[in-house]
Amino acid sequence: MALAGKVVVVTGGNRGIGLGLARGAGKAGASIAIWARDAAAGASAVSELEADGVRARFFECDVTREDSVVNAAGSTLEYLGPIDALFANAGISGERTRLIDLSLAEWRRVMAVNLEGAVISMREAARQMIRLERPGALIGVASTSAIHGTPGRLAYSASKAGLTAVCRGLAVELARHRIRCNALVPGWTKTDMLDRDHARSERFVEATTARTPVRRWGTPADFEAVAAFLADPDQAYHTGDSVVVDGGYTVY
Ligand code: NDP
Repeated sequence: MALAGKVVVVTGGNRGIGLGLARGAGKAGASIAIWARDAAAGASAVSELEADGVRARFFECDVTREDSVVNAAGSTLEYLGPIDALFANAGISGERTRLIDLSLAEWRRVMAVNLEGAVISMREAARQMIRLERPGALIGVASTSAIHGTPGRLAYSASKAGLTAVCRGLAVELARHRIRCNALVPGWTKTDMLDRDHARSERFVEATTARTPVRRWGTPADFEAVAAFLADPDQAYHTGDSVVVDGGYTVY
């Protein structure tokens, strides 16, 4: 119960990898604040966590809207207590588009969620931690796409590469406040995001599974233990890192 008494925010924690992170932090004793847009999915995630004995609350939040993020941070403090850790996990893959067909509007739509939304979420958590003079942990959920690139999803991979760079910078900037910042770098994981897309191609799933040393895609449950580790205040010397959880895909 390394996170007993702690408050952990997971943006986009109402499903997919975010819900896996929320479960992991919850099992380690944390109270969970889920920030996302879909209130029905939020309510169902909260019920699921509560059924496991976890204190959880959903805060409706669109990370592309600064006021919405500011409000979610304030409400989390009011209803659950000061934020001890935040996973900037909310993300979208964007439309599959070749460079020559790419619109600036689509590029900006992806950046607004994956990079700006993550930065603003981490900013609000950091402001609270610094104001209340409390240590904390920020975790940017990036992607192996930041390492290998993704043709047809240029904004996505750029946003994730940007986020890992932001995490490194924040590790240095915030260390004096005892705030750590690490990136979590998932590989192919079975969630709604990929069910709508890559997972629909049997050939693609077979090809990526064959070149994953553990011979399967990840599931949200694969992110539970690492969530507890990354948010754990006892890991006071662990910052500026990128933790890759991809079944070995990027080293094969
Ligand atoms: P899902 O599509 O299952 O979940 C995405 C989450 O982001 C939802 O909870 C959604 O909630 C939230 N979200 C999207 N837009 C916004 C917004 N504007 N404001 C607030 N929340 C938002 O995706 P995954 O679980 O697969 O992805 C989670 C993270 O992991 C993403 O950052 C993704 O890029 C990353 N990742 C995923 C991989 C995979 O293979 N699945 C691989 C590598 C990285 P709502 O719609 O209710 O707002």
